Amino acid sequence: MALIDNHRLQQERSEPCPGTLYIVGTPIGNLDDLSPRAKYILKNVSLIACEDTRRSGKLMKTIKSKVPLLSYHKHNLKSRQSQLLEILESNESIALISDAGLPGINDPGHELVHAARSNSFEVICIPGPCAATTALVISGLPTERFCFEGFLPKKQSIRKKRLEDISQEGRTTVIYESPHQLIKLLEDLSILCGKDRPIQIARELTKRYEESIGETIEEVLKYFLNKKPKGEFTIVLGGKTNKQKNKTSESNALNKLNKLIKQGERANVAARKIADETGYEKKWLYSKLHKELDK
Ligand code: SAM
Repeated sequence: MALIDNHRLQQERSEPCPGTLYIVGTPIGNLDDLSPRAKYILKNVSLIACEDTRRSGKLMKTIKSKVPLLSYHKHNLKSRQSQLLEILESNESIALISDAGLPGINDPGHELVHAARSNSFEVICIPGPCAATTALVISGLPTERFCFEGFLPKKQSIRKKRLEDISQEGRTTVIYESPHQLIKLLEDLSILCGKDRPIQIARELTKRYEESIGETIEEVLKYFLNKKPKGEFTIVLGGKTNKQKNKTSESNALNKLNKLIKQGERANVAARKIADETGYEKKWLYSKLHKELDK
């Protein structure tokens, strides 16, 4: 225990470092999730850049931080950048926060980090809550490999293509969605992924009415058709498994393979492509092909 305290004191004396940009994670609901280190940084940097000064002002009031706030949001990213770099240049320290969660994760952040790094300033993250990883680890879906999609594109044609790609993805996928678009998203996923695909919807994470709804697209769709979606949602979609890929019949897979070969594709390349597409093993497809040729 003494060791940890000494370490903390040491850190407190050396942080914040001059000319350093701190990326600070803030709560996504529960204020107690703000770490002691994050609090210390937010009370001791020279300036806090935040999306909404009124909203972050409330958080600063609760932690009694008197550090000046400067707005930094998606509409003034470029114009603010040089101003913030000048502040770092004068050996001051800056904390970047977003409305909630980790800056840079579907919030402004990466542009400033890139600019700071390109100008040889130190960038340090004070890790904190993030809806995507919080929803992922409680989903019960595989976490060894996962993809983060954030919000889907608004433009219909791009959104459709993105959803098609997601439906073919073998890894668990995390998606952010607004409450009024949730049912539409679930309907689209049901068509593309099948109603039995595993899914978990995390609602109001870390807040009083936190909920996890699963386990298949059909079940969650039924749930939200009865109960209007309200609050904040993070969707965790199970990846496409080989079992699901095998929904294509054997004869269909072989027809696809023959078609590719007739179009001039080399047999082993065609077999690999159809294996990826259908979930049948390349070796099995190849052996069937040879049997047909031997007939
Ligand atoms: N930077 C944030 C982070 O690290 O999680 C994400 C910001 S993004 C603009 C906001 C979206 O995150 C919401 O629309 C919702 O999809 C998800 N989200 C944020 N807070 C959440 C919560 N408490 N419960 C579930 N999802 C949440």
